[in-house]
Amino acid sequence: MRTIVSAQAITLLFAALVPEVTVTEVTITAEGILVTAFVLRPSASCPHCGAVSTSVHSYYTRQPHDVSLSGQPVRLLLQLRRFRCLHTSCPAVTFSERLPTLIAPAAQRTARLNASLRDLALAFGGQAGARQSARIAMAASGDTLLRRAHRATLPAQATPRVLGIDDFAFDKGQVYGTILTDGETHAVVAMLPDRRAKTAAAWLRAHPGIDRLTLSLSRPVYFWFSRTCRESTFMRPGHAGGGGQTWHDHRPSA
Ligand SMILES: [Zn+2]
Repeated sequence: MRTIVSAQAITLLFAALVPEVTVTEVTITAEGILVTAFVLRPSASCPHCGAVSTSVHSYYTRQPHDVSLSGQPVRLLLQLRRFRCLHTSCPAVTFSERLPTLIAPAAQRTARLNASLRDLALAFGGQAGARQSARIAMAASGDTLLRRAHRATLPAQATPRVLGIDDFAFDKGQVYGTILTDGETHAVVAMLPDRRAKTAAAWLRAHPGIDRLTLSLSRPVYFWFSRTCRESTFMRPGHAGGGGQTWHDHRPSA
């Protein structure tokens, strides 16, 4: 391990790169770059009542992932404080200091890393986006990318000639959605709020002009999507696409 400490130029560089905090140390490890930082301001505002407090209750650390630097993954080691709220009528006894520009409360990734992952998902979709994220040292799963994309406002775009249909987990595998991507550019076309075949079929009927479908669905929903989409208006001969539509699917393995 090689540690760079008290190098003023390095600290100044990272101070500019990491907003809202003061960088004290940059450590280069086998896993990447670790940037240690703390908040310099002596007080914080209670998020519940807005009262300013200088009474520190305790200290804690967070280690969120950040955007990569020079092809190396970056992790922040944030040394943070919990304050007492001194406002007598406030329900909060203590509160943690917030870094609204840098990271959301309880988030595992910085806001700018989430923004980068969202852009990757919108440009490449889940699976290709995950491969791309690993290449640029900001590795994230396809589901993680798609959750970021789901929160984004998708740019308006023409109905693609080739449409990919995939399902993904919104939240730790408890709630699922369906993602529709342009099969030629991989850009995200639409994010459907569930993974019901009839929701996808309704979308297909509202967007004529697709020549080819590619299904990459997980086993629990594959059969229903396959049957419902085949039976939808989209697949009837003579409908938009001139009856020349083709069907291509990746059957989930048993
Ligand atoms: Zn308060």
